[in-house]
Amino acid sequence: MAYKGETSIRRWLYNHSPVLFQNIMASIYGYQKIRFRYHSKEYPKWYEFYKETANWSDDKLREYQWQEVEEIINYAYEHVPYYRKKFDNAHIKPSDIKSFDDLSKIPYLEKEEVRLHSEELISDEYRKEDLFSHPTSGSTGTPMMLYNDRLATIRNYAIRWAQCRPGLNRKDKNVNFTGLELLDPAQNKPPFWRMNWAGRQRLYSVFHMNDETLPFYIDDLIKFNPVWMYGYPSAIYTVAEFILRKRLDYPVPPKAIIVSSEQCLPHYRQAMEQAFKTKVWDEYGQGEMAGLAFECKCGKLHEKPEYALMEFVPTGEKDDETGFDVYELVCTSFVNKAWPLIRYRVGDLAVINPDAKCSEGLAGKVIETIYGRTGHFLIAADGTKISNISVMAKKCRNIQLMQVVQEELGRVKLVIVPDENYDKQRDEPFTIEQFRKKLGDESRMKIEVEYVDQIPLTKSGKYLSIVSKIGKEHL
Ligand SMILES: [Zn+2]
Repeated sequence: MAYKGETSIRRWLYNHSPVLFQNIMASIYGYQKIRFRYHSKEYPKWYEFYKETANWSDDKLREYQWQEVEEIINYAYEHVPYYRKKFDNAHIKPSDIKSFDDLSKIPYLEKEEVRLHSEELISDEYRKEDLFSHPTSGSTGTPMMLYNDRLATIRNYAIRWAQCRPGLNRKDKNVNFTGLELLDPAQNKPPFWRMNWAGRQRLYSVFHMNDETLPFYIDDLIKFNPVWMYGYPSAIYTVAEFILRKRLDYPVPPKAIIVSSEQCLPHYRQAMEQAFKTKVWDEYGQGEMAGLAFECKCGKLHEKPEYALMEFVPTGEKDDETGFDVYELVCTSFVNKAWPLIRYRVGDLAVINPDAKCSEGLAGKVIETIYGRTGHFLIAADGTKISNISVMAKKCRNIQLMQVVQEELGRVKLVIVPDENYDKQRDEPFTIEQFRKKLGDESRMKIEVEYVDQIPLTKSGKYLSIVSKIGKEHL
C-alpha cells in the first residue's frame, strides 16, 4: 500500500477549491496519514516495544544499540551501493568494526553527499517507487530528497506515542502550527485554518500571523479548545506573545504544547507557558529520521538510544551562555532500513552539561540544548564566531521580532518588527548598544538596521533568528 503524500494534481485541486472542499481534502489526506502510520499490525508491536524500552537500563540500551549498529553496517555494505563504495574507498570492511570505538573508522556521511547521492542510498531490496519520498529544504535552503519505507514511519510514530506524548491520547483533539501551505499567501480575512476531521486536528497557517489576524486565531483556538498543541516554537510563541502583550486571557489551557523543528528559546518557552497556562515539551528530530530526543519531566532533552545511535563529537567550542562543551551530532539511525544513514552529520550541535543527571532516572544522554550549526553564528571581521543572538535580542525594547542577517564577514543587518511603543530616536541606539556589547566595535562588525512589518519565514514556515549567507568554510 503505497502512500505518496502530496502530488502536484492534488495541490492544484486544493488551491482552486472552496474552503469546505479544502477541509474535506485535508481530512482525506489526514485519514491516509493515519492509516499509513497506525493501521498496520506493525504499529502495536512497535508501540509495545518502545513502551518496554522506556524502562530499560543504560546497559541494556547500549547492548541493543550495538546489535542494531552491527546489523545496519552489515546490511548497508551488502545492499546499499553507496556504502559499499564508501567502505571500500576507506579500506574497511564491516568486520573491522568490533566496538563502538571502531566506528570512527567509518567516514562521516555528509549532508552534501546525501543531497547529491540520495537515490544511491536506497537499499537494493526496495524500489524507489514504493518508498515514501519527501523533499526537505534544510536550514541552508538547499533541497534534499529523503526516502523511507512504511515501517520507518510506523516506528517513528510508535516511539513518539509510547514515550514522547505525556498524558495524551492519539485521538485527542489537537492543533498544528507547522509550515503547511494551507491558504493563498495574499489572504487577509479568516479563516486562517483548515480542518482535518480524521485527525481531529485544526491546521493553522503560520504564514498569515500578524497583529491584525492574530485575534481571529486566538478566538478560533478558544472555540476549538484543543487538548494539545503541536508546532514550531516560533509560531506558537507568536500567538503567545500577542496574548501577553494585549493582556488577553486564554481560558482553556491545553494539557501540553509540544514544539519541534526549531530551537525552543527560553523566552519562547516562558511566553508559551504563561499565555497558555501549560507545560511546553521540546522535541528534537529531523525529516531524515536520523536521531530523536525528547524533553523529560526533569526539564531536559534526552536522546532516545533505541531509535538511533547519536554520537556526540567534541567540537572544542564552549557555549558562551553556559560555558558547557559543544558537541556535534553524528547519527546512525535504526528505523529506516530502506535508506540507511550511517554516521550522518546532521548539521546540529548539542550543548551538554557533564554533571547533569536526570531526576527521573531516565536513560539516554541529558542534553541542555540542540541547535543548527548554520544559522546560529555571526562571524566578525576577524573570524570570531558569535552565538547566542537571542540573549542580545531579548534585552532590546519594544521589539516584537527580530532577525539578524549576515551576508558578509564583519557586517550584519538587524531586521526589526517594532511594536507600537517603539520610538526610533530612543530605541534604535539602545538596540545597537545591546548588540555592540557582544559584537564589539565597528571594526569587528558593522551594524545596519531595517524596519519591516513582518519577518519573512522560510518556505517551510520556519522563523530564523539568524540568516547567514556566509559560506560553510567559515562555520
Ligand atoms: Zn530526565
